[in-house]
Amino acid sequence: MAASPRFDRRFLLRSGLTVSAVGAAGVLGLPGAATAAGTRQGAEEPEIFGTQDWGARPPSEPVVVENHKPTYIVVHHTVDPGNSDDFSKDRAFSISRTIQDHHMDVRGWIDSGQQFTNSRGGYITEGRHRSLEILREGTRHVQGTNVAGNNSQVIGIENEGLYTEVDVPDTLWDSLVALVAYIASQYGIGMEFIKGHRDFNTTECPGARLYARLPELRTTVAQRLGVEFEQPVEWPLLKPGDSGERVAIAQRLLRDRGARNVPVDGIYGPSTKQAVAAFVAERGVQPHHCHATTCTDETGWLGSDLWPLLVAHGNDRSSRSWKEQLARAS
Ligand SMILES: [Zn+2]
Repeated sequence: MAASPRFDRRFLLRSGLTVSAVGAAGVLGLPGAATAAGTRQGAEEPEIFGTQDWGARPPSEPVVVENHKPTYIVVHHTVDPGNSDDFSKDRAFSISRTIQDHHMDVRGWIDSGQQFTNSRGGYITEGRHRSLEILREGTRHVQGTNVAGNNSQVIGIENEGLYTEVDVPDTLWDSLVALVAYIASQYGIGMEFIKGHRDFNTTECPGARLYARLPELRTTVAQRLGVEFEQPVEWPLLKPGDSGERVAIAQRLLRDRGARNVPVDGIYGPSTKQAVAAFVAERGVQPHHCHATTCTDETGWLGSDLWPLLVAHGNDRSSRSWKEQLARAS
């Protein structure tokens, strides 16, 4: 077996040795230990089936290629409540066609909204046309339609299923890790820029259970790439039925905003929901829920596109300190 430096470095990382990339490079005397943060390793391209493989329709207009790298990798779920036991490739191809039909015929988009789709069986397919070809270049990215207000900055992955209360299958998880590692590797994207849809818009997506695994996703990808990072602090998603200190903080902020009928009882009841919906209307924030297949009514929920508006009024506390306070609260 050829003992190329490339092989050795990969082998060290894959064998789970807790050695930093700098350490590995130092021990082996490898070139390229350029930064104190470590030498980034490449990730192999996982098997990705192109639009021609699954029988995509042509886009209704030429897709837009952004002349720059994406900033974020965004994880979605398709909100398909069936959580199918069909782990076949045929199923992966069939959901790719269903999503494309929905996005083009119901949403009126030019093509699939997401750049990539990941099935429960672990089959990865190209979503929007040209996404794979452009990803392989590693310098530009295809503009999708999956994170309102940020589409020129993101690569989105739709994960088949509904993960509000159930965990993802291992097959889906493994292919998600492989795909995210490859995209991050191609573009040099930092682990803190691996996000869930809810980190941009007020939406359940990618489901509480899958969202809760994003820190693990970042850690696993970081190990594969040999990089170090700090987990980001994000805005919480609050919704009717929630309770606790974070809800009370939201209620105080809403009262400061003039919603005097909102109690500060830490219970996200009808008056809190109504006050958030009124705040959304008053501020002209467009609701952006998940678009893969079906939608949940997320009216009156409080998420990442609303918190910055809610906290920033004559208050000198930075968004980051608010995020940290909310992260510490129950
Ligand atoms: Zn989404």
